[in-house]
Amino acid sequence: MPKPAVGMFGLTGCAGDQLTVLNCEDELLGMVELLDIRDFLTASSDRDESCPLDIAFVEGVVASKRDEERLRRIRARCDTLVALGTCAVCGGIPAMDRDFDRDRLIVDLYGPGGRQFDALPVRALHEVVSVNVKITGCPIEKHEFLACIASLLNGDLPILPEYPVCMECRLRENRCLLIHDGLCCLGPITLGGCHARCPSLGVSCVGCRGPARDANLEAAVMVFEQHGLPRDVVWQRLQTFAPVPDGRLPQAWEER
Ligand code: SF4
Ligand code: SF4
Ligand code: SF4
Repeated sequence: MPKPAVGMFGLTGCAGDQLTVLNCEDELLGMVELLDIRDFLTASSDRDESCPLDIAFVEGVVASKRDEERLRRIRARCDTLVALGTCAVCGGIPAMDRDFDRDRLIVDLYGPGGRQFDALPVRALHEVVSVNVKITGCPIEKHEFLACIASLLNGDLPILPEYPVCMECRLRENRCLLIHDGLCCLGPITLGGCHARCPSLGVSCVGCRGPARDANLEAAVMVFEQHGLPRDVVWQRLQTFAPVPDGRLPQAWEER
């Protein structure tokens, strides 16, 4: 059976997810035995930029016309498109300011000459093209990337966590930073899969994996408020990795 042809791409991002892939040192040789890696510029300049691909992994966000054109070309080349990292999945840090006045931001930062730059309000991949698999994390977790490869090689879509960080935190029997210390820990509404890395080290979760499925924001805000954490503090934290649509808290939050 021929090996699946694979490409790995970075749009506007920090390359952290691609580096996580390259840091799979013990598994890299096994990976190249199973995959035909055709286009991965961060790893090699010897690449085929136009061949059809079975699987394309894409990191980063669409933040310019150039990003958008590249993403559409990648989508047209591949059967399965995997969004790699929180930026690609839900906008992440680059989307923090997407509902602000873009012209003003650019002029504030670069002066009037900034208007010449090719810059668009940031979008996650699924807002531009169809996405088949989403692996979140900032950066991604190595074990989730490898599990994804194994599933795709078997012709399946990977099963990734949908539960919140709190689930893993409780399993590790950590002291709860929110309940016991009144810290703004976003574990209750953040997607698990990181084995509650931060709370296990005594640091509250900042939500780097994006929102958990069916996260109950209203209930979470109520608990945060009961512990003396005002809405604007929670909002700022939430905005870091998972922009609230229209730059506002959901109406239910505003009305509280
Ligand atoms: S998700 Fe994090 S690691 Fe990945 S590109 Fe965005 S900022 Fe970098
Ligand atoms: S410390 Fe944070 S992640 Fe852990 S149980 Fe408490 S709220 Fe959840
Ligand atoms: S605990 Fe929260 S901030 Fe830390 S790695 Fe997990 S999701 Fe990210």
